[in-house]
Amino acid sequence: MAKLLEGKIIAGQLKEELAKDIRACGRKLRLASVQAGENPSVEVYIKSQKKSAELLGIEYALHKLEASASQEELIEYIETLNADPKVNGIILQMPLPGHIDYKKISSHILPEKDAEGMHPVNMGKIFFGRSKVLPCTAAAVMELINSTGVDLNGKEAVIVGHSEIVGKPLSLLLMDKLATVTVCHIGTSRAGRLAEHVARADVLVVAVGKAGLIKGGWIKEGAVVIDVGINRVGDKLAGDVEFAEAEKRAGFITPVPGGVGPLTVVMLMRNLLQCALE
Ligand code: NAP
Repeated sequence: MAKLLEGKIIAGQLKEELAKDIRACGRKLRLASVQAGENPSVEVYIKSQKKSAELLGIEYALHKLEASASQEELIEYIETLNADPKVNGIILQMPLPGHIDYKKISSHILPEKDAEGMHPVNMGKIFFGRSKVLPCTAAAVMELINSTGVDLNGKEAVIVGHSEIVGKPLSLLLMDKLATVTVCHIGTSRAGRLAEHVARADVLVVAVGKAGLIKGGWIKEGAVVIDVGINRVGDKLAGDVEFAEAEKRAGFITPVPGGVGPLTVVMLMRNLLQCALE
């Protein structure tokens, strides 16, 4: 039976270390959170970010714009925050209203204030193995793997999903640790070859958003299974991996909810500190 990777407990340990680093930096950090319009899921994220910021002694400044704000207004707002020396990092709350192009807006955030680690410059630095800020979800996955004590050197790491926020940056981070990395995506599934790749994985990371996509019986005995997916199934949340079956075969597995999620906000605050130190 797999050992559960409890996100809350691991996040708590990382938060303690981060709190020490923040105290050692000797400055009051400020995170500017930019929101355009209202959205219930955004409110949930903001609440959790605010709570973590408070615990870490970080000032969380919420900047709320109307849903009708134009792209130009949003860019102007970002430029003001870029120029404000009291602001160490900026986060854009997603989803933005439909008429706003996230990529365009986010590239206006200075790379030095990119608390989400999503600026093309910071993404490019991952390629060269010298990024100080990392996309929060990919960084959270690396911390969860690290918590298992499994050495990635020479291991078969299989990622399912090649999104810009998870799969793509993660492939480089895992390769940096000398894992042999395979990235599966919709093409792999359409070719009917997902099961064979998953079955080889010593470390499996799934970030797709389809409940039960990964069958429990495919999991290699003793594998580390990190399920990033969040799906609503009836009135419950579930990941992309068939948990009950996978748990019997894996060495370590994340629950959904309560696996990756609690770590992402800690990674955001860690990025903020890195922004302040740069
Ligand atoms: P995304 O941008 O939609 O990417 C999904 C990826 O899965 C794409 O690469 C897609 O390939 C691939 N895919 C789709 N169907 C597939 C299939 N049948 N077989 C193999 N690959 C398939 O999603 P995301 O933003 O990365 O998020 C993925 C999941 O993680 C979602 O459930 C999201 O809610 C969750 N998530 C959780 C956290 C957290 O903190 N826990 C953070 C971020 C995301 P194509 O693009 O080629 O179709």
